[in-house]
Amino acid sequence: MMSDPIVIVGAGQAGGRTAQALRAQGWDGPLLLVGDEPAAPYERPPLSKGLLTGAQSPAQCALRPDADWSADRIERIQGLARGLDVAGRTLTLADGRSLRFAALVLATGGRARPLALPGAELDGVCTLRTLADAAVLAPRLRPGARIVVIGGGFIGLEVAASARERGCTVTVVEAGPRLLGRAVPADVAQQVADLHRAHGVELCIGQAPSGIVRAADGTLQLRLGERLIAADSLVVGIGIAPDVALARSGGLAVRDEAPGGVIVDAGLRASAGPVWALGDVALFPSPLNGWPQRQETWHNAETQAPVVAHNVLAALRGAAAQDWVGLPWFWSDQYDHQLQVAGEPALGVREALRPLDASGAAIRFHFGADGRLVGAAGYGPASLMGREMKLARMLVERRAAPEAAALADPAHKLKALLAAA
Ligand SMILES: Cc1cc2nc3c(=O)[nH]c(=O)nc-3n(C[C@H](O)[C@H](O)[C@H](O)COP(=O)(O)OP(=O)(O)OC[C@H]3O[C@@H](n4cnc5c(N)ncnc54)[C@H](O)[C@@H]3O)c2cc1C
Repeated sequence: MMSDPIVIVGAGQAGGRTAQALRAQGWDGPLLLVGDEPAAPYERPPLSKGLLTGAQSPAQCALRPDADWSADRIERIQGLARGLDVAGRTLTLADGRSLRFAALVLATGGRARPLALPGAELDGVCTLRTLADAAVLAPRLRPGARIVVIGGGFIGLEVAASARERGCTVTVVEAGPRLLGRAVPADVAQQVADLHRAHGVELCIGQAPSGIVRAADGTLQLRLGERLIAADSLVVGIGIAPDVALARSGGLAVRDEAPGGVIVDAGLRASAGPVWALGDVALFPSPLNGWPQRQETWHNAETQAPVVAHNVLAALRGAAAQDWVGLPWFWSDQYDHQLQVAGEPALGVREALRPLDASGAAIRFHFGADGRLVGAAGYGPASLMGREMKLARMLVERRAAPEAAALADPAHKLKALLAAA
């Protein structure tokens, strides 16, 4: 008799990779991947970079060639999953279809947070989360266009860099006291600000806009205090809200307060039934200190997928689950510079600064109270970042406790410090 399928909801990075991992780990039964976007799973990082500058095409963002999904017998279903009955192991789609499942994986990610301001609904006010959003925004970045970015986080700053590369005039408005919030150390955020200013971006930091209007000539105007900033397009990059609607409809534990998400255990299993969650939507205990944590990174989706696949199959086979013990890691490309953060620098109580060149490129290593590394943040020309940050990540991953003086001295090779760790 045919078993019920494993159903994955959310055909993004996390969902797609989980489907692949289930096949790679030996699931031979039916496997359904339900997603509400028309495209097959794709990677989002190029949306704010190569797709806006024209260096990449939408096809180049695909997770894998289209034919591979059917070759792996992964059935893609386009639709919005709206109702979940955990005890009855049934999922209902918005079009009325219902699907039974042996196990369910929630990879529903997040939706761009809308701007709660008068005028936010005007044509020309854009967000950037999907291929469809990028298709709207890219043609607006024509040379000379006035682009105002609301939000000085990663997406906003990457859009700003891409828009400058396309010859637009760019203003970034950030309501907080600095760029990049708490995600990166303050001095790195300052270097990022300097780089944008050097590229001609106007930064309005610590100023909250109060509304958007359309002037008589059709131009958009953002009200910032007494000032009106004219724009041909406004790009809103103020973060995402994890998409917990489906989990909530099934009575699973979710959290609304930041960082929010579907609550899972260390093995990424949800609060009831044969249900797991991963990627941008999952609120999991940090492997470093157990605190609830949600990551919005490519690496998180990528590394949680094989663990969820393992745990789904272990549950169906009566075998032991494993914990996800990955280390947070992300990168951001802006102009020819790259920022990388590994681990959790915010948990650090002291740091060591390792210069990489004379221009200020450096890696900041952060030590926890126990003298072991908890994070590393590197910033500088992209050509310098790759190898050094790879070793830095490995040091943090091992929770190594090297001498701060050795880390701060480029004469001490990271490879040697790693070997000694
Ligand atoms: C513009 C941009 C640039 C980025 N750049 C970087 C970067 O440089 N470095 C980095 O580390 N990370 C980056 N990221 C983050 C990274 O892309 C995300 O962390 C990753 O996409 C998360 O994958 P996910 O599958 O968990 O969620 P998502 O990619 O959001 O996928 C979730 C999917 O589920 C669908 N869905 C939701 N609910 C339902 C439902 N009920 N029924 C059916 N389908 C549903 C959604 O429509 C979506 O297609 C970037 C993200 C964006 C948007």
